[in-house]
Amino acid sequence: MESLMRGYQRFMERYWTENRDVFQALAAKGQAPRAMVIACCDSRVSPEVIFDAEPGEIFVVRNVANLVPPYAPDSDNHGTSAALEFAVRKLQVSHIIVMGHSLCGGIRALVEDNLTDDDDFIGPWMKIATVARERSFVAAHGVVETARQLCEHESIRVSLANLLTFPWIRNRVEHGDLQLHGWFFNIDSGTLDLI
Ligand SMILES: [Zn+2]
Repeated sequence: MESLMRGYQRFMERYWTENRDVFQALAAKGQAPRAMVIACCDSRVSPEVIFDAEPGEIFVVRNVANLVPPYAPDSDNHGTSAALEFAVRKLQVSHIIVMGHSLCGGIRALVEDNLTDDDDFIGPWMKIATVARERSFVAAHGVVETARQLCEHESIRVSLANLLTFPWIRNRVEHGDLQLHGWFFNIDSGTLDLI
């Protein structure tokens, strides 16, 4: 925790001091980000760091394996769907980026079937990408390591398809007001692939 507090002190001394006007303008006028990024919780793939984003530039939601669930307006707690609703209907972002990454632990657990009954939430959550797992195993002819790598990409395609099950997303996409993107960040090389 001490390293975090030292980091905060450095932030205040440098970044905040240099960007005081930016923060105060955002505080006064509110945020108006043009893009939403859906990224993984993985500590190695911070969107603000990867895109060198300024405060107020990107609206970010992070969850396990950067998954988008299908549209399901019921009484369950839909954190990612709530963030989507706010970004699309209130902030009216023009772009939604689903950013996957290499070496994703969530995808690995799904592909290697390591999700156990001891998981209260991760197992049900990762079921969103079950179809991606199935497609990847077929394409990989059952080779687990290949399937894992394919599934990291395929799960992004599943999330992009799920985005279109939200009526207010589909409507904006069809009218040209919103664009959906799938990007993939390689941790070891730093490269960014388009999906
Ligand atoms: Zn991940």
